[in-house]
Formats: sequence, C-alpha cells, structure tokens
Amino acid sequence: MARKQQEEKEVAVEDKLRTLYHLQQKLSEIDEIKTLRGELPLEVADLEDEIIGLDTRIKKYEAELKETEVAISNQKQKAKDSALKIEKYKEQLDNVRNNREFDHLSKEIEFETLEIELSEKKVKEFTIESKALAEEIQKSKAFIGERKEDLAQKKEELDSIVSETKQQEEQLREEVKTIEADVEPRLLTAFKRIRKSARNGLAVVMIERGACGGCFNKIPPQKQMDIKIGKKIIVCEYCGRVMIDPELVGAE
Ligand SMILES: [Zn+2]
Repeated sequence: MARKQQEEKEVAVEDKLRTLYHLQQKLSEIDEIKTLRGELPLEVADLEDEIIGLDTRIKKYEAELKETEVAISNQKQKAKDSALKIEKYKEQLDNVRNNREFDHLSKEIEFETLEIELSEKKVKEFTIESKALAEEIQKSKAFIGERKEDLAQKKEELDSIVSETKQQEEQLREEVKTIEADVEPRLLTAFKRIRKSARNGLAVVMIERGACGGCFNKIPPQKQMDIKIGKKIIVCEYCGRVMIDPELVGAE
C-alpha cells in the first residue's frame, strides 16, 4: 500500500515536470510574438510621454508669453500716465506763485520722467523676453509636429504587427490559462518567479550533455541521475531553472 502511494506520487512529479515544460513552451511562443513587436510598444509609449511633456512645455510658455504681454501693456500705460502728469505739471508751472511750488513741480516732473524711462526700459526687456518665448513656442510646436508624425508611423507599424499576431497570441494565452490551472499554486508561483529572473524567460530547461540548458554550467553526476529518474523537481544551483531530462518530454 505504502509502495503504491509512493509510486503514484512519483508519477505525479513527472507529470508536473511535463506540465511545466508545456507551459514553458506556450509562454516561449508568446515571448517570440513579443520579440517580433520588438521595441515598438516601448517606443510608442516613450513618444507619447514625450509629446505630453512638450505639450505641457508649450502651454507653460504660452502662459508666460501672455503674462509678459500684459506686463508690456501695463508698463506702456504707466508711461502714458506719467506723460499726462508731466503735461499737467508743466501747465501748472506757468502759474506758480512761489519758489516752493516751482521746486515741488520740478521735482514731480523729474520723478515722472524717470518713471517713464524705467517703464520704457522694462518694455524693452519684456519685449525681448516675449520674442524669445514666441520663438520657443514656435520651435516646440514644430518639434511636437515631427514627434506626432513619428508616433503615427510607429503606431501604424505596431498595429499591423499586433493585428497579424493577435489571434495567435489570444489562443496561446487561453492555452496557458488551461495549463496553469493544472499546476499547483505554489509551484506555479515558483515557476513564474524563476521565469521572471531568467534572462531568456526560460524557467524550464533540458539538460544538454551534462550541463544546464539555461546557463550551461556542468551538473554533478548524482544530480544528473536524479534528473534522469524524474522523481523530484530539481533546479540548477547556478541559475535556479528547473532542469528536465529530454526523454521525459520525448525530445532528444
Ligand atoms: Zn543553470
């Protein structure tokens, strides 16, 4: 009885290994489709981010330009007000009654004259600033236009690849789901973890000429034996991948 149970358990391990191997095969097929798409999804996402960034920058420049224009018109108005005051003071100068009034008006005129000079200086500065901003806006808009063209082109490329492989990928994902349902959760979690840390996405590899098929490190003879017997799930001590004997899955 105990022996029979033992045998059942042993068979189960072989089944587990086969299931993991099939899961790995399906996932590798999906990986291949992704490789076909290459860097395109990433490039599309990068371009989209870049365009959002440029758009934000343009809006910021435009707001600054508006502020500068308001500042220019404020300074111009200020200069006009000062000029009016000067005109008024000059009229009053014609009717001064004493030196004190004359001095007072002269000082006011002097003050307003300086105010006009200051406003004119600011208008000049703001005008330079607004020209620079307008140029930046124009440049950024031209640049964003180019980027949008690039994006449209890359999106088109990606869409055509995706539509070609979509059905195939969906079917593979269905198959993956079905296989995953057959794997006990703890083993599946371990499998996913190994796959994630493996550079080529392979969590299950065959032993090839006494070496791990994932990292090509030599496997000690005793371990090779254990793998061949297939009664235990054995991982490579170097790369952590699950190692299986080719005969287990009918491969050479
Ligand atoms: Zn290895």
